[in-house]
Amino acid sequence: MAYKAEYIWIDGTEPTAKLRSKTKILADGAELPIWGFDGSSTNQAPGDQSDCVLQPVKSVPDPIRGGDDVLVLCEVLDIDMTPHRSNTRRACMAVAERFADQEPLFGIEQEYTFLKDGRPYGFPQFGFPAPQGGYYCGVGDDEIYGRPVVEAHLNACLEAGISISGINAEVMVGQWEFQVGPLPPVEVADQLWLARWLLYRVGEDFGISATLDPKPVKGDWNGAGAHTNFSTIAMREGYDPIIAACDALGEKAEEHVAAYGADIEHRLTGMHETAPWTEFNYGVSDRGASVRIPWQVALDKKGYIEDRRPNANMDPYMVARLITDTVCSALAR
Ligand code: ADP
Ligand code: MN
Ligand code: MN
Ligand code: MN
Repeated sequence: MAYKAEYIWIDGTEPTAKLRSKTKILADGAELPIWGFDGSSTNQAPGDQSDCVLQPVKSVPDPIRGGDDVLVLCEVLDIDMTPHRSNTRRACMAVAERFADQEPLFGIEQEYTFLKDGRPYGFPQFGFPAPQGGYYCGVGDDEIYGRPVVEAHLNACLEAGISISGINAEVMVGQWEFQVGPLPPVEVADQLWLARWLLYRVGEDFGISATLDPKPVKGDWNGAGAHTNFSTIAMREGYDPIIAACDALGEKAEEHVAAYGADIEHRLTGMHETAPWTEFNYGVSDRGASVRIPWQVALDKKGYIEDRRPNANMDPYMVARLITDTVCSALAR
């Protein structure tokens, strides 16, 4: 029997790219071919030269359709088969290959906010819910909004073979987190984009959408980040490389923050468990630091570090490339 392949790609919308997808019907046993789309409708090409190419790079079981159907993550190429300017995966691959001997691993904490009727799910039509404080990892109908979607998304990720490592309710009403990893740079980013697609797609069935807006509600409400946990083999074996990694990130702080997601200055204010985007510091257990060394890591004198700066709306190919390049270059010296 024929099967369905959902071709998924990252578009050219600026400053924050969106996910797109469409379905291809393939004969039983047929391999996944390259495909095309209208780049003039995705901010990827002008109307008079609208064709862009979809190059399948990763295929997983489709947990929505089931059976033999698959989700197919694609790179976008120009018709001469070179990477499209919106294609950030290739540069990530090059850096991952250059430093493969250091065995970099990433665990990304993706925070997001459910929206219903144009406002965060759980916010009343007028005014505000009770101030934050009880919602983080909360339980109960007065505090928790969207649990059925979260559970369905978790199951979908597991069925798709995504290395999701946990979920939790976040500090703001209607805000949640899932974690992907630890995985190598390209794999963590591929899987994070697929997990994001599944989040939006699962939400459709519940009439609830999700946003990666880094600061969905102004004022005294937490923003949404994508804390990026990172280690190399040397960091997993000793403490000096942990400190060297923090120092290396400090030296390139401006370059990193500029690539950590649009509107980062609205989220990294120095309040709500962040460090100001204009400063760099690191510390053990410090949730107000740019980079946190988890207490267990300080105790064991080995492990990983948490870069707390990336926004929820960051591109994981860019973030994984930058951190790998900056830290692995420094550790190679
Ligand atoms: P937090 O306490 O900041 O909320 P989480 O438990 O949400 O932390 O996320 C921690 C992340 O760190 C997980 O995704 C986990 O897979 C990842 N992680 C654990 N060990 C390592 C490691 N050695 N290298 C990279 N990532 C790691
Ligand atoms: Mn977390
Ligand atoms: Mn969190
Ligand atoms: Mn964290």
